[in-house]
Amino acid sequence: MLNKKDQETYSWQMDLPGFGEREQTILKNTTALVTRVGGLGGPVAQSLVAAGIGKIILAHKGDLRRDDLNRQILMSSKWIGRPRVNCATLTLNNFNEDIEIISHNDNVNEDNIDAIISGADIVFSCAPLFSERFVLNNACIKSIIPLVDCSMYAMEGRVIPIVPGASQCLRCIYPDEPTHWKRKFPVMGAVSALVAQIGVIEGIKILTNFMPPNIGSMIAIDANEPSIEKIKLAHKNINCKTCNSISP
Ligand SMILES: [Zn+2]
Repeated sequence: MLNKKDQETYSWQMDLPGFGEREQTILKNTTALVTRVGGLGGPVAQSLVAAGIGKIILAHKGDLRRDDLNRQILMSSKWIGRPRVNCATLTLNNFNEDIEIISHNDNVNEDNIDAIISGADIVFSCAPLFSERFVLNNACIKSIIPLVDCSMYAMEGRVIPIVPGASQCLRCIYPDEPTHWKRKFPVMGAVSALVAQIGVIEGIKILTNFMPPNIGSMIAIDANEPSIEKIKLAHKNINCKTCNSISP
């Protein structure tokens, strides 16, 4: 149930067609896992908090560096050397004191994912590495949790909303890790933030169904043109080693 403070805080959002107290209450009762709090995950977490998500789990290993500051908008130049998840938690709680935040100073891997994902209703993958994206994909398929896979490179981005059993999974699209993918790549913070916002909007659609979510599609964002294109994906890959045991 929404209290008076919630009703005032989210009154502009609840003016959206199809989005009322029911949808806002769903967000309040939702726990979202956001992996990494960098150029993509930072704005994802920020917009989820602003939208009124009840609880957020953050996972990102390591301390803030100066070369993070062109894109990691939850940080501060005064906090270089501090753990990024602590900085993100401080910024998010400063924005909205009612949001519960659990932080892990670690990146997801096969050993820790079960503990980190515990209690999550939806996952936003904002990891730069395919190894992490695959770990999240496996965990979401296994636990039947929706996954919004967000990725970007230079002036382009991709958002893939995945609902286990109802859409392709990440392994259907990428059976193997692309060999050309590198850890460091060009990023303009405005582009990673743009991709993040599309991911949050798709996640809110999946959670509340206030508009039909784009399940079964990949959203391709090109900041050069600019364009946002919805690319319909083929049916599930029957040879997919991750999701082929899930029906239909
Ligand atoms: Zn699959």
